Amino acid sequence: MSQIRLDKWLADAGVGTRSQVKEYLKKGRVRVNGEPVKKPETRISEETDEVSFDGEILSRPGLAWYMFHKPAGCITAARNGRTETVMDYFAEAPEKELAPVGRLDKDTEGFLLITNDGPLNHFLLAPGRHVEKTYYAKAEGTLFPEAEKRFLEGLDIGDDKPTLPAKLEILKQEGNEVELLLTLREGRFHQVKRMVEAAGAEVTYLKRISFGGLPLDGTLEKGGYRPLTEEEVQFLK
Ligand code: URA
Repeated sequence: MSQIRLDKWLADAGVGTRSQVKEYLKKGRVRVNGEPVKKPETRISEETDEVSFDGEILSRPGLAWYMFHKPAGCITAARNGRTETVMDYFAEAPEKELAPVGRLDKDTEGFLLITNDGPLNHFLLAPGRHVEKTYYAKAEGTLFPEAEKRFLEGLDIGDDKPTLPAKLEILKQEGNEVELLLTLREGRFHQVKRMVEAAGAEVTYLKRISFGGLPLDGTLEKGGYRPLTEEEVQFLK
């Protein structure tokens, strides 16, 4: 979690110059999490602390979080002018240093979080965090018996250790066609495809429908994005 001096935070937020901000602090016009704070050197968390000035909650300077509905066909990478990337969709976004949180395969659609909040990005991807992601998949083949139970036990997909328990819900298994929901708490390379393959079927369509407990907004077209609400940002933290 990144910590920053309160006077710098206020100046970055456009409240005033560093010396003006010190005056405001002295006069008790600034509160952190509802408590008046007077010392300019107080360190606050950019992610979790709420700062108000004259009773008005200030938004974090320059930080942005977007829910992006990734279409198939673009890669999860920085803009490079050659291959189409998810960041090409953010060419008009005013914020700098936006980057995806994690990655989706080129042919995968769905919820990709895009932010310039570096600490939150690292926090969400940290190996111990186990942020939940739910995928909807269509596949061809027949899943092995008791697939739900075996996915919950963790599956050997050829890595040095089995996967963490994953929640599988089979929506349909008719002939050779499978439709399923899979909730993972880790993010290994091609994990959904490899787990489904280990269970006897091949993924033909993949969409991430939720990330960190936030569902993909059904009103977002493929290629569309919207800012997260303040509540959604807090929910992820
Ligand atoms: N699992 C996959 O196989 N692909 C993705 O894009 C995401 C999860």
